[in-house]
Amino acid sequence: MEDKKKSKNSGKLKCSFCGRSENEVGFLITGMNGYICNNCAEQAYEITTEALGKKGQSIQQTKASLGELPKPVEIKEFLDQYVIGQEDAKRFLSVSVYNHYKRLLQQDSGDDVEIEKSNIIMVGSTGTGKTLLARTIAKLLKVPFTIVDATVLTEAGYVGEDIESILTRLLQVADYDVNQAEQGIVFIDEIDKIARKSDNPSITRDVSGEGVQQGLLKLLEGAVVNVPPQGGRKHPEQRMIAVNTKNILFICGGAFDGIEKKIAQRLNTRVVGYNASLKSSKVDKDNLLQYISPQDLKSFGLIPEIIGRLPVLTYLEPLNRGALRAILTDPKNSIIKQYIKLFDMDGIKLTFQESVYEYIVDKAVEFKLGARGLRSIVETIMMDVMFEIPSQKKKKYEVTLEYAEKQMNKANLERLKSA
Ligand code: ADP
Repeated sequence: MEDKKKSKNSGKLKCSFCGRSENEVGFLITGMNGYICNNCAEQAYEITTEALGKKGQSIQQTKASLGELPKPVEIKEFLDQYVIGQEDAKRFLSVSVYNHYKRLLQQDSGDDVEIEKSNIIMVGSTGTGKTLLARTIAKLLKVPFTIVDATVLTEAGYVGEDIESILTRLLQVADYDVNQAEQGIVFIDEIDKIARKSDNPSITRDVSGEGVQQGLLKLLEGAVVNVPPQGGRKHPEQRMIAVNTKNILFICGGAFDGIEKKIAQRLNTRVVGYNASLKSSKVDKDNLLQYISPQDLKSFGLIPEIIGRLPVLTYLEPLNRGALRAILTDPKNSIIKQYIKLFDMDGIKLTFQESVYEYIVDKAVEFKLGARGLRSIVETIMMDVMFEIPSQKKKKYEVTLEYAEKQMNKANLERLKSA
């Protein structure tokens, strides 16, 4: 106020940016050695937000320091809130993501030691949490992230999507900011579906097999790739965007059905062979995946070059009863918590008898539905109550074992089995 009065009196104070005097503008803000008028302040604000918006997330550009980024232990703690078990995969993922940040930060440091990227491959039966892990980690990532499905990929010239379309998705989430996309992470699901059908390279062309692997290899290795901005097929008139994949981290996941047989074969030969001291009784036959080695991926039909570019190999454990029971109630957005919230929105306090949880797990195990089946079972049990209760004037509702059994017996279980 003091300044304003003074400036009015003297009438000589000017905006240091546009040079207009105070009576030509709305007002002047006083700084240490000058003034800025309301118009210039507004413009400065616009320029600032635009500049920051463009560079918003990029780790390199904002020069975030390692101290500001979540450490592997913190990343794992975050995953623990959503994903039950899978300790090994969580640790590998956390370290890989942290190292990915480190590699981005050391760029331009002029250092001779160049940190190479370590792409990851996760092997685990369907429904054990591979995609869930990827989705969860995406929530806390500071770089663009996308999930693509390897089943739609085919060699150029065949019906399906070109390999480059993987990068289209990344470009889209990065708002076509190439710089940012080049620092991103891609999760390639169902990588096992592009395995060669037999261990012997065949003479006939294998549309969805080796050719695709060769194409993918280029991306994994790091190359400048021309990407169709809208995805799908490339065609000559389309404008392409060049993307360098050198720093893009690839996380691959697959069920690799039947790979246990290859692992068992390898373990058996080893026991008989030079490493005979390893007793076969020590091998945990129910979870052979924990012994997986790059060699098994090769026997399954991945080409050695691809395996070489996926140096971090980890596995997901099969979900036992205990894990299924925990998945029902423990994760931050567990199925049961979701139902409690749904009822809460109608002002109804929903509770379950403890035995209902055990019953749901029993059914999931009985029908071999795994974690994916838990939701359909709960849905079957709850459907009638969800239909009726919002119209009744109830304040609470308890799901009893008796009720759950009645609902399940009434349901068409065949439908559940194909869920
Ligand atoms: P995958 O990709 O391995 O086939 P998903 O990650 O899609 O399996 O899992 C299917 C669903 O099962 C998930 O959406 C989640 O609800 C549940 N689920 C599977 N594994 C876990 C786990 N380890 N912890 C919590 N929920 C899980």
